[in-house]
Amino acid sequence: MAKASKASALRGKKAFAGPPACDKCGEKAAITLAYGPHRFCEKHFSSFFEARFRKTIRKYKLFRPREKLLVALSGGKDSVVTLHLLHKFYSKSNPIEALIINEGVGGYRDLAVGAAAKNCEKLGVDYRIVSFEEEFGITNDELMPLILKNPGLGGTCAFCGAMRRSLMNRYAKEMKAKRLVTGHNLDDEAQSVVMNVFNNDYDKFVRAGAGAGEAAWGFVKRIKPLYETPEKEVLAYASFNGIRHYSEECCPYSWTAKRNEFREMLDDFEKRFPGTKYSIVRFFESAKSKLPKKKGEKRDLAACGRCGEPTERELCGACLQIEKVLNKGALKERRGGKRKFGAKKPCRPTRE
Ligand code: SF4
Repeated sequence: MAKASKASALRGKKAFAGPPACDKCGEKAAITLAYGPHRFCEKHFSSFFEARFRKTIRKYKLFRPREKLLVALSGGKDSVVTLHLLHKFYSKSNPIEALIINEGVGGYRDLAVGAAAKNCEKLGVDYRIVSFEEEFGITNDELMPLILKNPGLGGTCAFCGAMRRSLMNRYAKEMKAKRLVTGHNLDDEAQSVVMNVFNNDYDKFVRAGAGAGEAAWGFVKRIKPLYETPEKEVLAYASFNGIRHYSEECCPYSWTAKRNEFREMLDDFEKRFPGTKYSIVRFFESAKSKLPKKKGEKRDLAACGRCGEPTERELCGACLQIEKVLNKGALKERRGGKRKFGAKKPCRPTRE
């Protein structure tokens, strides 16, 4: 009997006999993916998940053999699973290292950094830890209350994101990486597409994708092997394969991010119309491929006057953000001020 028909026969049999059965082997299913719908046991779900991870790398030509990969490792499920899969399938063909950034959020990031480092040690991957405190002279715990007090400065995650991106790019160059790998998943990307539309941010819209950040002067290309992988499935893969990651507290500043609204909206749509997030990303890809290249689109970049990172202005995004706080006199408050935050609200993981 052909493999497919054997599985269908097994499914038919099991349909009357209790819990849903795996599409592949007929054993008890451990997960049901509503958009298929697909039902898999742990083993066949893992094969399906890994095949999609590798297919994404081939489809978007994310890297080539021998290119050095630097994984931006937060310690959370997405970046940790990305590191494990790169190590499993590409450690013979590509040098792989990790960069761990400590933004300085007590009771959260210090614990996540520990989980990230443990994963590197387990896999034998070299890593480097850098901190906001050493690089920018300020931690998130010092910076965020000041920003929250001065909402005109912008969002907390926008600040943190600009500073983190600046460090990632700087260290990717210093560590001689050809690609900077991030753990962005399908949910993150669908949210970004919709946010860019809502914000009428065409430039950000066209620069997004599985291989984001054009190979412009001074930038290391950022790649996202989980680009087509839903967040829930990353969690399931980690759990089925015993991959330990940080999952306890979430960042106490995440509740302020506008992205949370988009996450809730798209989660709701996905629940009612399975496949919505994938459709948004597919729509983005086909729209992007049809967009005419604007003449003179090449960005005119120069080195930031303060840190040397590429920028279209005098100062890069991160230095500009810090300058904004300084100009507001917020840093003065920091020296004499109390570290007092607003009432704790439910926090949500976010990416800027
Ligand atoms: Fe930074 Fe926001 Fe993430 Fe917290 S939730 S680490 S402030 S980007």
